[in-house]
Amino acid sequence: MLHYNIAIRPDPMPSNRPVPPVRASARIAEVRYEIRGDLARRAAEFEAEGRDIVKLNIGNPGLFGFRVSEHVREAIQANLARSEAYCHQKGILSARLAIVEQLHAHGVGAAHPDRVFIGNGVSELIDLALRALLDPGDEVLLPSPDYPLWSAAATLNGGKPVYYPCPAERRHLPDAGEIEALVTPRTRAIALINPNNPTGAVYSRELLEAIVRVAERHRLVLLSDEIYDEILYDGAAFVPLARLAGNVPCLTFDGLSKVQRACGYRVGWLSLTGAPAALSEIEHGLDLLASLRLCANVPGQWAIAPSLQGEDTISPLTAPGGRLHETRRAVIEACAQSKYLDVVAPQGALYAFPSIRRAAVPGFDPGSARAGKRARRPGLRLQRQLACAFPHHAVAACRPVARCFRPHRARARTRGGQRRPRATSGLMRAEC
Ligand code: PLP
Repeated sequence: MLHYNIAIRPDPMPSNRPVPPVRASARIAEVRYEIRGDLARRAAEFEAEGRDIVKLNIGNPGLFGFRVSEHVREAIQANLARSEAYCHQKGILSARLAIVEQLHAHGVGAAHPDRVFIGNGVSELIDLALRALLDPGDEVLLPSPDYPLWSAAATLNGGKPVYYPCPAERRHLPDAGEIEALVTPRTRAIALINPNNPTGAVYSRELLEAIVRVAERHRLVLLSDEIYDEILYDGAAFVPLARLAGNVPCLTFDGLSKVQRACGYRVGWLSLTGAPAALSEIEHGLDLLASLRLCANVPGQWAIAPSLQGEDTISPLTAPGGRLHETRRAVIEACAQSKYLDVVAPQGALYAFPSIRRAAVPGFDPGSARAGKRARRPGLRLQRQLACAFPHHAVAACRPVARCFRPHRARARTRGGQRRPRATSGLMRAEC
């Protein structure tokens, strides 16, 4: 927790009458974002009490020493003087051309610079896209578990998230038939996160084709969050959805935050593909919304072309011996040794999604309030809260740290008063 040495002095008030609380929008009450919400606040409280909290929940590589390539940083520096004016609402042309070049190289021949929108991270573009698409009560099919911004953005834009399951028993893969069974007259879109946060699942070509057919049959828009597209392990193959979608309206989201480890630059993009006539209203809506915020942060956009055209800096991290590869291996091995945890080996992204073996943890019932009271240890209390956010899984994600996740060695006193390590399998500790 941060402590500021600033005293708050109330400004002189015109009157001393009590001021009633200012009411926040009812829409906010519906929204949860645990990464920076109640759970994070609770962790900060424990930290303030002097507890050692290992944070496993955020894919912010820069915080853990992963760096952006020097030539990308230099491109921003070199172009700062050219970044002082607003640019086009869709973003600077050289960056959009580089994005299209990369999409073409990935087999998405329909990509076009006029149909690319650059935003302040994928986060902004998810919000803009759902705002352009949804009317009150419209439904969006989302994966469960999802990256919570998708649920939040759907709700804040008047929509209703409807979840299709991606259970561990199926290696966290969705089923096209189950997705189709959830379609109603109010359904507008199917959102995919591939490779997936938080499960690490990577979807096969056959599965994606089946989902495209569902969208085609029911005239739904495909929303494909591919921000982890090049973070792959053990030879997993990523297939861009837009390559398979043909005329079906498809919005693909990507950015610099993960593959280029440049979260703080706030650079993402959205590419529209599919029959132009089918997408013209959405394209117009997006153009309007993008114009209302004038443009995305300009300096960061100069990082796009050198990132996409420069050398591949992610494969050395995901290949055997690379830091991401070894971290993932350590998580898988630690879970395999644990008598409390199971995990489906992630095929991509920066996360793992272990589940707690209920039988091995008697009394651990994420749905029960008594479980929270019984769990006096902060770790267990936090795990309970995580469990409420992700009902079937008590531990949400792993973070990208090297030499991470060894079985935690609790300290115990020997007879002579010397401390010696005692292995307690199941508790994991990050070492970085
Ligand atoms: N989509 C997914 C699946 C993510 O995991 C994240 C960040 O963790 C984002 C989008 C947000 O990306 P950005 O930093 O580009 O806003």
